[in-house]
Amino acid sequence: MKADDLNAIQVAALDKWYGSFHVLKNINLAVAPGERIVVCGPSGSGKSTLIRCINRLEEHQRGRIRVNGIPLDDSVKNLDAIRREVGMVFQHFNLFPHLTVKENCALPQILSRGKKRKDAEDMAMHFLEKVRIPEQADKYPGQLSGGQQQRVAIARALCMTPKIMLFDEPTSALDPEMVKEVLDTMVELAEEGMTMIVVTHEMGFARRVADRVVFMEAGQVVEINEPSIFFDAPEQPSTRRFLANIM
Ligand code: ADP
Ligand code: MG
Repeated sequence: MKADDLNAIQVAALDKWYGSFHVLKNINLAVAPGERIVVCGPSGSGKSTLIRCINRLEEHQRGRIRVNGIPLDDSVKNLDAIRREVGMVFQHFNLFPHLTVKENCALPQILSRGKKRKDAEDMAMHFLEKVRIPEQADKYPGQLSGGQQQRVAIARALCMTPKIMLFDEPTSALDPEMVKEVLDTMVELAEEGMTMIVVTHEMGFARRVADRVVFMEAGQVVEINEPSIFFDAPEQPSTRRFLANIM
């Protein structure tokens, strides 16, 4: 087995363009199984694009991505395999408004895993209990608070039994009083050993949970460090400027 194959995620010499706009420039990032990575950086620096490349919601043009040793290439079989390993949670929940909470969690299992309805619903309830909203199962997303909807989105992702979870600013669309309930759910997931990449500016979360913090600027990874160094003695001047602005 090559060393690359032991990583949960391996991104090597990654470049991506939107048309002529060079959005990701020579990104290198290896994530070990069970590792928690927080990605931060100014708006427009390419954070979403980077994590969307990992399950090919965006296509890269140069470089290499491997997920649990599986190369992300033009093979549909590989892409299917990678998408089985990777769950994603977005800023704007992306729940189906016309389906109940339980159905939101059960239907993807039925459609893309061929699960029996009963088994899919049992799994849905299991994870709705885990994110502490089983009593909301028969409501529609529009009847829930933002924090509850985001916890449904997390439960829905967990129902697909991913080995890796990607979060793209999961709390930035929430009212302040709901941020904590979502972060608490994510902390629990981290403590259970889930491999996670979290794009967030919640620096308290980063300090508490991250094994390493990545700072991106203008399509490049500028600094990667463990939280104690990243926050207390960042190496790069642009990291220092960024932190001074947000803290
Ligand atoms: P971040 O998540 O750090 O705010 P994004 O990855 O969303 O950054 O975007 C990085 C840059 O790429 C921004 O300048 C953005 O305007 C641009 N961009 C994002 N998505 C697209 C797209 N689909 N087509 C063209 N440009 C895009
Ligand atoms: Mg973004």
